[in-house]
Amino acid sequence: MLELATIGGTAPQTGTALADSPLAIRGLTVSYGEKPAVFSVDMTVEPGRMTAIIGPNGAGKSTLLKAALGIIRPLSGQVQVFGQPMAAQRSRIAYVPQRASVDWDFPTSVIDVVLMGLYRQVGLLGRIRGTHRARARACLDRVGMGDFANRQIGQLSGGQQQRVFLARALAQEADLYLLDEPFAGVDAATEKAIIAVLQSLRAEGRTVVAVHHDLATVPDYFDNVFLINTRRVAEGPVSTAFTADTLQAAYGGRLATAQVDQLSRALV
Ligand code: ADP
Ligand code: MG
Repeated sequence: MLELATIGGTAPQTGTALADSPLAIRGLTVSYGEKPAVFSVDMTVEPGRMTAIIGPNGAGKSTLLKAALGIIRPLSGQVQVFGQPMAAQRSRIAYVPQRASVDWDFPTSVIDVVLMGLYRQVGLLGRIRGTHRARARACLDRVGMGDFANRQIGQLSGGQQQRVFLARALAQEADLYLLDEPFAGVDAATEKAIIAVLQSLRAEGRTVVAVHHDLATVPDYFDNVFLINTRRVAEGPVSTAFTADTLQAAYGGRLATAQVDQLSRALV
């Protein structure tokens, strides 16, 4: 159990042992140019919990996830997944990227997108069988998209597309789910459907880490938070790490008055 929030980049680590953590990051620095986008970040994700990654625009949230996944090569630092190097554990991770980063202009059916989540089981040259299709359909049902299996992905609304990407991640049957702003630009019904699925993953003992931009829903949706503004600002349970002080430290003057009002209600 994590009890104490850790504040600052060099604070002592939390109670989760490194080998037990689904995602443990040490000294991670990532740079696209001269200025680091992520600087010397430590993170210890607690197993079986839902953790929100929070911070202002450009704080390095997406970069942190991409570097953890090996999509971007860091300047320095280590990433361990379930106590082993990430490359050895890649099949245990499902990733749902920020929606805007995916271009669906080419014709692909919804069921084919979900089947992509099964490619490890199917094998690169393996044949898709009825059992694979049945599993893909079950995942679509779980996100409320069972009736859309044969539609073109490009013809769906943003919220519907997001549900399909989540179905693809479900098909992977991963132990660690990494999602980049899964609720951005989706309707209220989709947000509800997605959070219900994430909570059911947690109930199955899986670990969920999501970049989240709506501060007001953090205490309702998440167990733990990780606040970042290039450097780690705070990490721990919502009750201790998600406070007016840590938010001020992460957002500084960028926290609008309206958000502060909203938050003072969320933080009671
Ligand atoms: P966040 O997800 O918190 O909004 P990002 O991780 O996307 O932040 O970006 C962190 C910083 O790195 C920003 O200053 C952004 O402009 C910069 N950045 C992100 N991706 C690239 C890229 N591919 N090339 C150059 N700079 C980038
Ligand atoms: Mg981002």
